[in-house]
Amino acid sequence: MDIYMRTVLFSDHLEIKGVPVYCCDECGRNEVLPGVKDHLKEMIQSSSKSAGKVSIDFSEQNEVALLLSRAADEDYGNVSLEVIIDERINQLLDMLIMAQNLHNDEWIEDIQDRLSQISNYALSTYDFT
Ligand SMILES: [Zn+2]
Repeated sequence: MDIYMRTVLFSDHLEIKGVPVYCCDECGRNEVLPGVKDHLKEMIQSSSKSAGKVSIDFSEQNEVALLLSRAADEDYGNVSLEVIIDERINQLLDMLIMAQNLHNDEWIEDIQDRLSQISNYALSTYDFT
């Protein structure tokens, strides 16, 4: 499955960069990657409340989008997605320890949320059995 990073315009006032899309085998249309759809919907809903034109980088909010954009980035060379995932998990775990030391609950929650985005995606992508 080929995945592309796209900038998607959702309305006159909302632009989201770095959305992972793929070409559906069944209908041939470009579709948002299933694993990130719900998060994207939440972001669209919450940004509809804000006034003016909004431009959001999805990879700053969504770990799967971040990992896929890194995998697509030529600066990372031929590093496999698995290695990129491992590195990011280690980085987040280091940040988690730091956040716990600082007793920063909001930060801890954010990191835990990011870690679960990755593990949900990894579980849906790889068959561990
Ligand atoms: Zn389809």
